Amino acid sequence: MPEEKSILLRMRGRVQGVGFRPVVFRLAHELGLRGWVRNDAAGAEVALAGRGGDIAKFRAELPGRLPAAADIQSVEELSAPAELPAGFEIRTSAAPDGARVAGILPDLATCPDCLREILDPKDRRYRYPFANCTHCGPRFSIIEALPYDRGNTTMHAFRMCPACEEEYRDPRNRRFHAQPNACPVCGPSLSWMRADGTVLEVRDEALRAAAEAIRGGWIAAVKGIGGFHLMVDARDGGAVRRLRERKKRDEKPFALLFPGLDSIRAACEVSAAEQEWLESQAAPIVLLKKREGAALAREVAPGLPWIGAMAPYTPMHHLLMRELGFPVVATSGNLTDEPICTDNDEARARLGGIADFFLAHDRSIARPMDDSVMAVCGGEPVMMRRGRGLSPCSMPMAGAPDGWVAAGAQMKSVVALTAGGNAVMSPHIGDLDHEGAVRLWERAVNDLAGLHGLEPRAAAADLHPGYASTQAAAEWGVPVAGVQHHHAHIAACMAENGLEGPVLGIAWDGTGLGTDGTIWGGEFLVCTRRDFRRAAWLRPFPLIGGDASAREPRRAALGVLREMGSGHPPPGFSRAELAVLDGMLREDFNVVRTSSAGRLFDAAASLLGVCQKMSHEGQAAMRLEALAGEAEAPAYPFGWRGAALDWAPMIEAMLSGGEPPAVAAGRFHATLVEMMVAAAKREGLRDVCLSGGCFQNRRLLAGAWRRLREEGFRVWSHREIPPNDAGICAGQLAVALARA
Ligand code: ZN
Ligand code: ZN
Ligand code: FE
Repeated sequence: MPEEKSILLRMRGRVQGVGFRPVVFRLAHELGLRGWVRNDAAGAEVALAGRGGDIAKFRAELPGRLPAAADIQSVEELSAPAELPAGFEIRTSAAPDGARVAGILPDLATCPDCLREILDPKDRRYRYPFANCTHCGPRFSIIEALPYDRGNTTMHAFRMCPACEEEYRDPRNRRFHAQPNACPVCGPSLSWMRADGTVLEVRDEALRAAAEAIRGGWIAAVKGIGGFHLMVDARDGGAVRRLRERKKRDEKPFALLFPGLDSIRAACEVSAAEQEWLESQAAPIVLLKKREGAALAREVAPGLPWIGAMAPYTPMHHLLMRELGFPVVATSGNLTDEPICTDNDEARARLGGIADFFLAHDRSIARPMDDSVMAVCGGEPVMMRRGRGLSPCSMPMAGAPDGWVAAGAQMKSVVALTAGGNAVMSPHIGDLDHEGAVRLWERAVNDLAGLHGLEPRAAAADLHPGYASTQAAAEWGVPVAGVQHHHAHIAACMAENGLEGPVLGIAWDGTGLGTDGTIWGGEFLVCTRRDFRRAAWLRPFPLIGGDASAREPRRAALGVLREMGSGHPPPGFSRAELAVLDGMLREDFNVVRTSSAGRLFDAAASLLGVCQKMSHEGQAAMRLEALAGEAEAPAYPFGWRGAALDWAPMIEAMLSGGEPPAVAAGRFHATLVEMMVAAAKREGLRDVCLSGGCFQNRRLLAGAWRRLREEGFRVWSHREIPPNDAGICAGQLAVALARA
């Protein structure tokens, strides 16, 4: 008999809650290996004993057998424990010690097998809204602690029936150790109620009642994975308008939930890459081009050619949408700017004035998560918001000590924590202007630290003293590294792409505090992860009237015209208003100067008559991008004033050109791209990083990619991390770690 070998493999990556252990179990059985597999705090351990050749075969074959959601990042080889069983076993989790860093899985959209079961009248889970298995179902939204075992999830409240228990214990079953395993006998169930809590229907009747109500034009609050949605018939203008009024949301586009891919295709153009994202287990909202004559109410996304579309991602959504057969608005259950509601009682209290009825269930949500939002540009993903399905997001940060926390920014805030050589980012929190969001931000920090068993040891925050995140970080009693906003944007892009620099970072966004006390936002920074030098910027102009100026493109236009000394009349003001604002400018009262690219977009949008006052952030720039369409357009002239790129010749030409606004909008985009090329050539660094909220504009992003590459630069942008302020936390960590 050949000599027996033994080994212990410590695996790191996404190996918990994805059906990893059953795969190991089956493979070990096939090869006649002895030993065990178990989850530990940081991943999984596999102990093997048998012939050396069989162990080698095991290691070679395992990667090809992994379930879709699993991913082994590293394997450490250790000596095997002395005692191994006679067969192969799946063991319970090891007691947690040290930092708990096992890749926490995002919530996974319903898999084809589970979908087949809920549509099969002979299956015991027929029409069951909470079916799931090791390949799909809730994860991060139910996890209260690690390791990922049922007792550590919000499913601990439900005791499995014998049939479910049997599946759970059978290594050959798809539901072997599926922590949220449930069925109509033992699992969560639906109820349909009024805002006062009166239950009208339960179970399948509740689902049918919800469909009936939505079909009738009522507003329903529907509890999903990460919180409540507000739903109405997306074809019914009156119903959508009523939702806008009650939610106090003027024009910001609503996302739509469709019955399936066919109905998405009927309303929108869908590329192969977009289809892949729509059908992925992340099931995000994907921004798609709306088809002419799509049967959707104008009120869904007024004035925009795009629709935020998503496919059903839980059995409940599949069943509800099949019942309906038409798209519904599915917007976060909140008043504008407040965090999404997760708790049944809280939802009835806060949404009682908006929703007519509630479709709730009795599985608790461990943490709120909005839907993720993304777009595809040139086949590549552009993340705009990472929430349900794409959170938590972790990015390798080699050598990072545990317990460093990044506070993020003020808008679109996200926090990050270092754990096990990764930066782990929280789901989207929101704008910290609202008190509820600040509480949620604090909760997110404690949540990340608590899940990983870490205490914050050091922090990084924005330089802006007015950011709620910066203020709160100062109270943690740990050293805080101040990181300049645009340096953080570029450092996030460098970290995501594994660059150390120096690079030329093009950081274009709405606002961020500069090191000179002015508002930056059109920056060309020569960056390493540690430091930066402000190499060039867009010519600054005055913004008159404080915060209001960020919401009124006409004020940006006024500032641009006054800076140029142009005689062109500023659009959208009464004579009295102009007199007041010009007085403030003369007295330098409540005037800030800014190099912001975002505000330059606002100014152009105002001058082209596209938007004078915004109901939501980014509205003017989105409309300008939409107006420009995809037609090629030549750049306008521009110049340099010292290190500042001067847009005055462009505005001059725009105002005197007499071109159709769509052409002028296209030429405006082309000019900004040529400014980037000019600055990159002047600096002469080979690597160029693009970051900041302006790069959510796909015309600008695609133009920058194309032109900079044509000129021989290597161009880097984001794929995983949003270019907007949600990415700031990752950059803050990268800078703080480089300085340490
Ligand atoms: Zn499944
Ligand atoms: Zn059951
Ligand atoms: Fe920013």
